[in-house]
Amino acid sequence: MAEGEFPAGALMKGKRGLVMGVANKNSIAWGIARQLHAQGAELAFSYQDEALEKRVRPLVESLGGEPFMVTADVSNDASMDTCFETLKTKWGRLDFLVHAIAFAGKDELQGSFTHNTTREGFKRAMDISAFSFVDAARRASALMPSREEGGGAMVTLTYLGAERVVPNYNVMGVAKAALEASTRYIARDLGPAGIRVNAISAGPMRTLAMAGISGGRQLMKTGKDWSLLKEDTTMEGVAGAALYLLSDLGKSCTGEVLHVDAGFHVVGVPDAGDGEE
Ligand code: NAD
Repeated sequence: MAEGEFPAGALMKGKRGLVMGVANKNSIAWGIARQLHAQGAELAFSYQDEALEKRVRPLVESLGGEPFMVTADVSNDASMDTCFETLKTKWGRLDFLVHAIAFAGKDELQGSFTHNTTREGFKRAMDISAFSFVDAARRASALMPSREEGGGAMVTLTYLGAERVVPNYNVMGVAKAALEASTRYIARDLGPAGIRVNAISAGPMRTLAMAGISGGRQLMKTGKDWSLLKEDTTMEGVAGAALYLLSDLGKSCTGEVLHVDAGFHVVGVPDAGDGEE
């Protein structure tokens, strides 16, 4: 998707936020970042490791201005400490957080959930894909303005595999279920401080994370064929939902899992012929 396809405006003017989870130009975090940038947000980006920095830096630079980038391996406390200390020193205040991070081993994203899920794999998927949001939310909330000064907002990314059985999604579905429940509990804790916490349940999109799931191509195809709109989930749709949830448009909305999947999640039985070539 070319630059400039996101609606420009001033909905995020004066707001500063951390975007976690850009790996390349196809990352959902990058689509959301471009939408927020087009609406005037000031952005900091965290990336997993040095290897990714090389890919992420040119993207961030393409937005113009002084790039604000910091390493954050969410499975490492010291790395998270440094990330949030840097934010505190440089900005002092954070208005929003975008969490678009997940990981499970390739071996665990195929075949039998019961037989292929190891203790280590289960813990790793939970740690990186669910606990990391709890941890980031706690750290980010400490930098957010008081309710009187506007409070804050957070958004994470989830998938229907949390609610329904999806072939090969396996341990990631379990981690996403934990992520969605965590979203509600975090929303409860931070609500009194005026901080809204929501999740976007996106339909299948062609990203690195999707490439790690066995049968991802079929997920994409079914996601379109069975959907009510008969189309793929778009980056504009997901980024637009994030803009709604993170801007003042989303006032009064918290603890929510918003489905942005062309209506796929409401289908009980597909139309006869759906999916046939
Ligand atoms: P992506 O591969 O571009 O993004 C995943 C990100 O997670 C990467 O930036 C990666 O560096 C980061 N990450 C993994 N382990 C990390 C660690 N230890 N520390 C820090 N960062 C780490 O893929 P994506 O599809 O944009 O995924 C973003 C989010 O969207 C994920 O939570 C994913 O589950 C969710 N999601 C994706 C889809 C889809 O179809 N692509 C659908 C619904 C939800």
